[in-house]
Amino acid sequence: MTDDSLAALLAQIRACRQCPLPHGPRPIVQAGRSARILIIGQAPGSAVHASGIPWDDPSGDRLRAWTGLDKTVFYDETRVAQMPMGFCYPGKGPSADLPPRPECAPLWHDRLRAHLPELRLTLLVGHHAQERYLPARPKRSMTEAVRAFDEAPAGLFPLPHPSWRSTIWMRKNPWFEAEVLPVLRARIGWALTKII
Ligand code: SF4
Repeated sequence: MTDDSLAALLAQIRACRQCPLPHGPRPIVQAGRSARILIIGQAPGSAVHASGIPWDDPSGDRLRAWTGLDKTVFYDETRVAQMPMGFCYPGKGPSADLPPRPECAPLWHDRLRAHLPELRLTLLVGHHAQERYLPARPKRSMTEAVRAFDEAPAGLFPLPHPSWRSTIWMRKNPWFEAEVLPVLRARIGWALTKII
């Protein structure tokens, strides 16, 4: 596969009109063939839908703080790819944003990942990504999945979604900051070795 075929796939994704969406389609995706890290989030929120920039909101600020990635690296498609479970903003539900459109990941994820041969680390941000990519474990909560991060298959790293709720969750689960984030940053450093 070549850069040209990745460019063609990204153009196809950006032109996708598969789902009925209350605010219209605006697929948010970032990928380069040499990317070492893939971030699989949930779905863009309204701010990201407006700007067109992945994680361009307070959740993104928290994710960058957790990972230790500054914006220069985070938005460098040659090092970091961004592929949410739903590429477009799904709209608001009664109490929060709606879940990612279910059509999206089955339609695009495998095709896009096939263009990322250098991946060393995939961050599974939130339970939607964890449900798709971690081995099925009945009744395991997001907290349990994150706590068992070292049991995830090689190259996969589960994280909570870094929404405002995660600040409360972190206070209740201090092991995340003390035990998980140092390992996460070490794995990110390893994944980017030789290209920083
Ligand atoms: S959410 Fe995904 S499948 Fe739906 S329109 Fe956007 S890119 Fe297409």
